[in-house]
Amino acid sequence: MNELPSFFSVLGIIFVTTIIIFGILLLIATLLIFIMIRRKKIVFPRATLFLLDALYYPLKRLFVYSNMDKSIVDKIEIEIRNGILKNEYLSSKIKDRIVVFPYCLRSIDCKAQVSPELGVNCIKCGKCKIGNLKEICDENSIKVFIAPGGSFVKRVLKRHPCSSVLLIACHAELNEMMRILSTQGIPQYGILLKKTGCIETDVDIELVKEILLGVN
Ligand code: SF4
Repeated sequence: MNELPSFFSVLGIIFVTTIIIFGILLLIATLLIFIMIRRKKIVFPRATLFLLDALYYPLKRLFVYSNMDKSIVDKIEIEIRNGILKNEYLSSKIKDRIVVFPYCLRSIDCKAQVSPELGVNCIKCGKCKIGNLKEICDENSIKVFIAPGGSFVKRVLKRHPCSSVLLIACHAELNEMMRILSTQGIPQYGILLKKTGCIETDVDIELVKEILLGVN
C-alpha cells in the first residue's frame, strides 16, 4: 500500500530534476550566445555547438517569447560549424566540391528547366549571379545544384558520396542543411545570403568565389 505514493514521489522528483536541468542548460546556452555576441568571438566551439544543437527548438522559442531575433541561434551555429569545418573543406580537392545555390537566388525571369533529380539546370543566361558562378564551377569541374532544402542535398550526396559541399542559403535553411550534413561527417562550408526573401535574393559573389576555389 505504501509503494504507490513512493513510486509517484520518485517520478515527481525525476520530473522536477529534469525540468531544473533543462532550465539550467537553456540558461547556459543563452548566456553563451550573449557572451559570443558581446566578445564577437566563439567560445568553447564544440561544446557550445552541441548545446545549441540539443536545445535548438526551445532556444528559438525562448528568443521569440523574449522578443529577440531568433535568427541569432542559426547564425551562431553556422559560424561555429564554419570555424570547425573550414580547414577540412579547404583541404578537399576542388574537383570534388559541390555547390548548392537556393532557388530564390535566380532571376524571376529564369527560363532554366527544373527536374526533381537535378534541380534547376542553369543555362548561364546571365540574368542572375548563379550564371557567372556556374561558369567558374564548370571551368573547375565543380558540380552545381540549384535546389531547395536539406532533403535534396542528401539525395545529391548519395550520388556523390566523396564530395565536400559549399552551401548558400538564408539562416534557417542553411543551418538546417549544415546540421544534416554534420551528422554524416561531410566537409562543408556555409555562406549566408546577404539579402533574403522568397525571390531574387542576393549573395556576396566575391566571398562565394573565394570559398569555392579556396585551398588550405
Ligand atoms: S543564370 Fe541560370 S539560374 Fe540565373 S536566371 Fe539564368 S538560367 Fe536561371
